[in-house]
Amino acid sequence: MKNRLGIIGGGQLGMMITEAAQNLTDEISEITVLDPTENCSAAQIGAKQIVGDFKDELAILKLAEQSDIITYEIESGNTDVLSKLKAKIEPSPSTLGIIQDKLSQKTFLSENELPVSEFYEITSLDDLREKINELGLPVLLKSRRDAYDGRGNFKITSSDEIEKAYQYFDGKSLMVEKFVNFKMEVSVIAARNTKGEIATYPLVENIHENNILKITIAPARVSQNIIRNAGEIAKKTMQVLNGAGVFGIEMFVDQDDKILINEIAPRVHNSGHHTLQSCKTSQFEQHLRAILGLKLGSTELIHKTVMCNILGPDGFEGKYKPVHLEKDGVYLKMYGKDISKPQRKIGHFNVVDLSDSKDVSELLQMADEVKNIIPVSPL
Ligand code: AMP
Repeated sequence: MKNRLGIIGGGQLGMMITEAAQNLTDEISEITVLDPTENCSAAQIGAKQIVGDFKDELAILKLAEQSDIITYEIESGNTDVLSKLKAKIEPSPSTLGIIQDKLSQKTFLSENELPVSEFYEITSLDDLREKINELGLPVLLKSRRDAYDGRGNFKITSSDEIEKAYQYFDGKSLMVEKFVNFKMEVSVIAARNTKGEIATYPLVENIHENNILKITIAPARVSQNIIRNAGEIAKKTMQVLNGAGVFGIEMFVDQDDKILINEIAPRVHNSGHHTLQSCKTSQFEQHLRAILGLKLGSTELIHKTVMCNILGPDGFEGKYKPVHLEKDGVYLKMYGKDISKPQRKIGHFNVVDLSDSKDVSELLQMADEVKNIIPVSPL
């Protein structure tokens, strides 16, 4: 029997899941997304849309009526409502619940003996001072919920910043974490299907600017030892997490080459966009295979690839000129967002080593050239 697919969130991730779903014609009959932005990215390529907030109970109920299986592209879904639904939800609301709260996520990981930076819950300003005495500076004070792209983090480097950092969060529930002086940020895209089959993609290297992912390099330029350790940590994470779907596991490589998990995203992930061209099975198809209980596809990296995000330029908010590009080995994907805003993700491109003849530095140089010829300018 074919499934009607519901997706909470119809931005770029929902759009690329929709594209993959449209190719799984034997499995999926129709696709509906719930998103607050009218004519969202996924709707533009043919998904039906319910316009509503991700946490709106009535809108979620409506989505459930129109879906046999529901998944999501954002982690801020309403777990109370989701757990009451009759429709199948993957990853499960209980897995989502663990991940949504950074403190419960870190507690879960450390209880399962997975490596994380030292952390504490924070209940008051005095408590923060006390925990900083134990951890030493610098630390990162983090909002436990609804924070992404670093927007819920405050780095405290000296004791006179402690009060300011605490006030910044204005009563939100908080945790504090020892700052990791990392050599590199890396990630593993991992999948687990409803039958428990696990597959991991090769380790990639991520370069952030202002907490936003700018570039992913596949594969990561690290030793075999680090690749093996990160792969094992990713597999173990998937074994204990118990949810079905694709997960983005973000990690640090510290100065001693030790791997620490920073954060898990219970969804397809920006650092997996390279798989659209670099691997046989994209992370989007893999996610659908996982939640539908199909055999997982190959995760082998066939071509070295550099992925570059296209962000809205600073100092400009509004409609922008269409962006086109034709260049061998470069694959551009724009997300159909009408309005550019500073630092908003409006597209990405992959520079792919189709001939298997380039090294990563050449791909990075090409990516830099492409970035400079892609204009994001007012219409
Ligand atoms: P997050 O939103 O918590 O994933 O954090 C966003 C970015 O902040 C990460 O990609 C890191 O660059 C940085 N970050 C988060 N936690 C830490 C940490 N404990 N030590 C150093 N940098 C961190």
